[in-house]
Amino acid sequence: MPVGLHEMAHALELENMIENEEYQFFPTQVQQRWKQLAPYYIESIKRGETDFFREYAATNVREFFAVAVEYFFENSAEFQRQHLELYEVLVSLLNQNPLRLAA
Ligand SMILES: [Zn+2]
Repeated sequence: MPVGLHEMAHALELENMIENEEYQFFPTQVQQRWKQLAPYYIESIKRGETDFFREYAATNVREFFAVAVEYFFENSAEFQRQHLELYEVLVSLLNQNPLRLAA
């Protein structure tokens, strides 16, 4: 049973693509960097080099995003420590930093 955050991440990504008032909520440059990092991480998970994310994250780029959002909120400190650039990209994409909220 997937967690709600995971499903909300899928919804957010779709919302970003639908042309309405929230269209392109994600800053374009940051989204470009995400699109570069995601396939790299997927390959890394498939090769067993990255064990931070569960294997399901390597299904495709959409699932990688949804799983990364889960870990971003549920395991923020370890995420930041192990995958700093990816963490910071998510801070920019989502316009929030869970570690700041906790402070
Ligand atoms: Zn999913």
